[in-house]
Amino acid sequence: MLYISTRGQTRPHTFSEAVEVGLAKDGGLFLPEKLPSIAGKLEGWAALSYPQLAAEFLTLFAPEIPNQEWHSLTAQAYSRFDSPEVAPLKKINDKTYVLELWHGPTLAFKDFALQLLGLLYKRQVKLKGKKLAVLGATSGDTGSAAIHGCMGQEGIEIFILYPDGRVAPLQERQMACTGAANVHAIPVPGTFDDAQRVVKECFGDHEFVGEVNLSAVNSINIARVLAQCVYYVWAWLKLPEEARATVEFVVPTGNFGNVMAGWLCQQMGLPCGSFRVATNQNDILHRFFTTGDYQQGDVKPSHAPSMDIQAASNFERYLYYMLGGDQNRVRETMVRMKSGARVTLPRTQSSFRSTRMDDETIAQVIAQVWKDWHYVIDPHTACAFTGMAQDRVSVVLSTASPAKFPEVVQAATGSEPTHPSLEALKSKPLQTYPLEATAEAVKAFLRAKVR
Ligand SMILES: *Cc1c(COP(=O)(O)O)cnc(C)c1O
Repeated sequence: MLYISTRGQTRPHTFSEAVEVGLAKDGGLFLPEKLPSIAGKLEGWAALSYPQLAAEFLTLFAPEIPNQEWHSLTAQAYSRFDSPEVAPLKKINDKTYVLELWHGPTLAFKDFALQLLGLLYKRQVKLKGKKLAVLGATSGDTGSAAIHGCMGQEGIEIFILYPDGRVAPLQERQMACTGAANVHAIPVPGTFDDAQRVVKECFGDHEFVGEVNLSAVNSINIARVLAQCVYYVWAWLKLPEEARATVEFVVPTGNFGNVMAGWLCQQMGLPCGSFRVATNQNDILHRFFTTGDYQQGDVKPSHAPSMDIQAASNFERYLYYMLGGDQNRVRETMVRMKSGARVTLPRTQSSFRSTRMDDETIAQVIAQVWKDWHYVIDPHTACAFTGMAQDRVSVVLSTASPAKFPEVVQAATGSEPTHPSLEALKSKPLQTYPLEATAEAVKAFLRAKVR
């Protein structure tokens, strides 16, 4: 199994190579050259535990890692989840199930991919005998999930830049209170874009990248998408048989990463019904799926901050399939999109619907779901609770624990959601490494720490 770039100007990579470099040299994203079929395997997978299912699934995509090793990697990756089912599927009413994806260490769905990615990095370090410096910028969830995937891993130093004073206090604590010596939470002045720019500049210095063996942690790594596929298969297997063929997966999304994984499963033969893309007021994806126009706007901060995005970085993967795998057209289209041009694309896929939700409605929906079903949801998950299909079962992907967003949830339900791991954080000392928002400052810091 080899991985090709959506833009077609990079040689095919093995799974490990694609994971290590993240983004292809030509600026494209990696995809499997050919999708394997899973249709014939589903029945045999029905009785597996979550880590076993993940190992079987991932072996199809990276046979270079022996199946037995995959089993030990996934067992370890999901051992720190606080539910024995890892991703429990809860029935809310006759037509609605919620797939709880927030039982990992940072209480958001990104742990599914990043707990595993940390172990894959560690495996690479062992194979190559060379230390790895992992660098990324975050507005909250990705950074904390990456830190918890890498903390304490031998041979890895992780550096996460974030805008000082602009991430939620609990998210900062998740990054800065680990007590792990290989973790560096770095507040920088400015906005997320400033932090991101510094990270990009560091990666632009190829000599430096080689010197400290720098690896990027961001939302486009193929390992993340593949790890996220597993819970769609898992949820489908847990549904009553009569609901499976038509089930609609409803996915709160901004970067198109989560729902892309589900759609790939369908392309591989998972016989499910449809997908609904649920956005907040930053609705570039909703506008695309309703009008066919894809045009970037300005980001408006919302109650669901992890979806405050106007350029869906994983969308390029979907574009590749929409354009029939024509890599030249993908490249041209991406260049036009980046320039801010309005791009109209063929809407041939009927598997997708979309909805959007503003902040006021998010608060109302949290209150209503609590009142009607005695179930507490976070603001991201709330975006999914609208426009439910009446003629089939929906599975809502719940992307974060309500305890991560106590203010909004308390205002809506009247009680403060809590979680033991977040309570424990409140008394731990904060360890941060404030730096100027310049590549020089960050490079000097990394050099000193990696040596
Ligand atoms: C990251 C995140 C999302 C959005 O994920 P996509 O990659 O954009 O699909 C949604 N909810 C939460 C809680 C997140 O952390």
